[in-house]
Amino acid sequence: MTSSTKGSRDIFGIHHVTAITSNPQKNIDFYTGDLGLRLVKLTVNQDDPTAYHLYYGDELGRPGTILTFFHWPNIPRGRRGISQVIATSFLIPENSIHYWIERLKKRQVQFRGPYKRFNDEQVITLYDPDGLELELVAHKSAEDRKVNIWKGGPVPTEDAIRGFYSVTLSEEGYELTASVLTDELGFVSTRHDGSRFRYEISSTPSTSSTTTDKEEVGVGGAKIVDVLCLPYTQQALIGIGSVHHVAFRTPTDEQQIVLRHNIVKARLNATPVIDRFYFHSVYFREPGGVLFEIATNPPGFTVDEQVETLGTQLVLPPWLESMRSDLEKILPPVSYPKREMK
Ligand code: ZN
Repeated sequence: MTSSTKGSRDIFGIHHVTAITSNPQKNIDFYTGDLGLRLVKLTVNQDDPTAYHLYYGDELGRPGTILTFFHWPNIPRGRRGISQVIATSFLIPENSIHYWIERLKKRQVQFRGPYKRFNDEQVITLYDPDGLELELVAHKSAEDRKVNIWKGGPVPTEDAIRGFYSVTLSEEGYELTASVLTDELGFVSTRHDGSRFRYEISSTPSTSSTTTDKEEVGVGGAKIVDVLCLPYTQQALIGIGSVHHVAFRTPTDEQQIVLRHNIVKARLNATPVIDRFYFHSVYFREPGGVLFEIATNPPGFTVDEQVETLGTQLVLPPWLESMRSDLEKILPPVSYPKREMK
């Protein structure tokens, strides 16, 4: 592992989390209708354009708020276990915990909690229609979190989700995963409780950094990765209802190249830079087996749609536009979320 990147600010936190759904309509209804996120892009999987790729987030789908789904109805159900993102956590205001408990009850969403974690977090665990485990974490950092809350959704602004809080990785051991998080991605170890080890991107600017906060204007938070050591658990199977990968954000293509170089120097295989149209991506598997991605903040979801109309139609990348009528025959029809006026 290199030590030169230790403590660098090249990674600012989570960019997006991608999971797998069997049913795009139930997925849209849950994430927009129950959780109040905005559908910011309905497009197709670039590697398999006969399947949807759905993106949810704040008003703009800013990095740190984006949950995406591959629509793969014909693959097996996922099995929870080690080498997996076992929980994806959203941040809610401290005073909103009762609102959410009542909302989940009313909408018959399966959940448990709230319970305390690390003394200052109240956690509700819930499941989406495919059984994907999510958390709502009530924490005081919600007050300072910069997100463009989606005001067209059903949740009152004061209680709305403030993007991601954290992800939890389930691993056999933690040191090798920890060394990638700290040496290559700039996380620091902050605390642990039992078998939960926490890593965070420090919010104090590093003097060795070549980046400034200016490059992250309007983006923030989602700076926590928890590693949960569950050595006696079976190996995870990635399928319907599980997370496929977690992406970390970096502000520029140049920094992405530097990060990729360091990852390869740490003897991990990495893909070349792939143009995902809304961001540029490099994928690699961390030593515990979880698929990681480095994604650039730009260009974002307004590259091919106006802010006002994000997620209101099927968008295809330019090179697939000529196949539109064929794809529209194959893809199951979906109804778009209703916009609520508040
Ligand atoms: Zn991704």
